[in-house]
Amino acid sequence: MQKIQMKTPLVEMDGDEMTRIIWKSIKEILLQPYIDLKTEYYDLGLEYRDQTNDQVTYDAAMANKKYGVSVKCATITPNAQRVEEYNLKEMWKSPNGTIRAILDGTVFRSPIVVNGISPIVSAWKKPITIARHAYGDVYRNTEYRVEGPGKAEIVFTGKDGKEIRQTIFDFEDKGVIMGMHNIDKSIESFARACFNYALDVKQDLWFATKDTISKKYDHTFKDIFQDIFEAEYKEKFAAANIEYFYTLIDDAVARVVRSEGGYIWACKNYDGDVMSDMVATAFGSLAMMTSVLVSPDGNYEYEAAHGTVTRHYYKHLKGEETSTNAMATLFAWTGALRKRGELDGLKDLVEFADQLEAASLRTIEEGTMTKDLALISELPEKKVVNTEQFLVEIRKTLDKIRN
Ligand code: NAP
Ligand code: MG
Repeated sequence: MQKIQMKTPLVEMDGDEMTRIIWKSIKEILLQPYIDLKTEYYDLGLEYRDQTNDQVTYDAAMANKKYGVSVKCATITPNAQRVEEYNLKEMWKSPNGTIRAILDGTVFRSPIVVNGISPIVSAWKKPITIARHAYGDVYRNTEYRVEGPGKAEIVFTGKDGKEIRQTIFDFEDKGVIMGMHNIDKSIESFARACFNYALDVKQDLWFATKDTISKKYDHTFKDIFQDIFEAEYKEKFAAANIEYFYTLIDDAVARVVRSEGGYIWACKNYDGDVMSDMVATAFGSLAMMTSVLVSPDGNYEYEAAHGTVTRHYYKHLKGEETSTNAMATLFAWTGALRKRGELDGLKDLVEFADQLEAASLRTIEEGTMTKDLALISELPEKKVVNTEQFLVEIRKTLDKIRN
């Protein structure tokens, strides 16, 4: 069999613990036998990040900017316990935070939907993708605990020294106040990332804020989305036969629950934080949630939404058998390979990504799955397999599909 050839290397960011083991197995069992895999490898495993004083994370993000597409394994974000466990020089920052800051991207999260695992919301038939704005609002706030009577004001001092002053509240007793901000440039990047992604996957885009109450703050979000849509995307959306739809956040929530899915839901930072956990849980499993970071200038970083599955890794280290679900990590690879194939005009690479996804879905739908899915699957007959056996079973299905 002739292996599929690649043109441009994929930026490969290796990671930690159980997902690092899965990473290697996916390459050996499902990719290298079929593809002449071309990657530029960056080891974001915590040990090497520590050795290079985290330089490797910056280098990987810069390579993502250079080549356009990367695939990332889950990585440990160190805390005090990890500093001790790995004897780290420093409590290094979250690699995802570093990469996101360099690429200035928006994160899109979608569940992998399979027959036999029904969403808790019975109307949902297709995946709902959450796009979360990753800058500002309550995550960059200034807050103050008011301990007694007094006047709270909001003051803006212009570069020219001119002051704009408004009363927030005249306190007669204890209370709380908060100031927060966002910047047009970041909202514009967010809007473009959402419009581009909607065109990419040919799905409607929904966006919602509370502009009736927040007449300046939230209204700015609404206006920026609308202006960019009218000026740059209206015709492209019409040509792709998709819609941009704005509504109030409370109306959006009600519509989402009644909908059958199959669209992208753009959320402000806090709404996205809350709604992505709601959507992920309602669709069934964290192990089935994919994630892609898209930058406004068209760079893509694919990963799983879950972490390094530490609990399973410690079992593995003790020699115990694990049944860890590789689906989200596998879909990070297929997403990246498909995008690379599309950008380089490699039809067989795109087709392979489709086949590998189809094979993994069919394997689960025919009853072979990891423990986490067996617990929620409604199929009458289920075969629970271990971490590696699951990939071997997918390979068997893949060979059937390819023949
Ligand atoms: P986690 O790795 O997502 O795992 C939490 C639990 O969810 C697991 O113990 C397991 O439940 C279940 N789970 C998650 N993924 C699974 C899979 N693929 N198959 C089966 N079960 C799965 O979160 P965590 O334990 O809180 O964090 C571990 C490490 O990951 C931390 O060091 C954190 O910094 C890092 N992290 C990295 C990223 C990233 O790189 N994007 C994201 C989040 C966390 P059971 O134990 O009940 O089976
Ligand atoms: Mg959260």
